[in-house]
Amino acid sequence: MIFERYDCIYCGMTAESRDHVVAHSYESNSVSKDWSHDKIVPSCKECNCLLSDLFLPSIAERADYITGILKVRYRKLLSSPDWSQKELAALGKRLRDYVKGEQNKKRTVQMRISYAELMANNTCLTPQAYWESMGRFQPILNQETKAPTI
Ligand SMILES: [Zn+2]
Repeated sequence: MIFERYDCIYCGMTAESRDHVVAHSYESNSVSKDWSHDKIVPSCKECNCLLSDLFLPSIAERADYITGILKVRYRKLLSSPDWSQKELAALGKRLRDYVKGEQNKKRTVQMRISYAELMANNTCLTPQAYWESMGRFQPILNQETKAPTI
C-alpha cells in the first residue's frame, strides 16, 4: 500500500487508504477514475469511510465535516471523566487496565479532532500543494555523482 508511511490528511492517524477529494460519483467521467495526485490524499479508513461519496470539494471542507462527525460519533467517550493517578490506583488491576485503555482512546480522539480542526482552517491546502510539501513533485536536485573509486 503506497500510503503506509503517510498520515491521514484529516485526522493525523496512519493512512491506510486514499481519499478522492472530489468523490467519484460526482465526476462527469466516472468511468475512468482519476487517481492522479492532484485529486487524492492519504486518509485513514475511518475518515475515508465517513466521507464516502459526499460532495465536499476541498480538503478544508472535508476536514470540517470530519471534525463534526468525530465529535458526535465519540461524544460518550469525550464526555467520560478524566481519572487521576490516585483514583486509578484505587482500582483493581482489570478495571484499572480497562479505564486506562478508555482514557487512551479518549486522548487519541481528542488529538484527531484537534488535527481535523487545524486542517479545516487550512483553507488553501489542495491535494497538489500537499504532495508538493511532501516532496513528491520536487525534482531531484544535487544528486551527487559518485567519485570514481581508484
Ligand atoms: Zn483520518
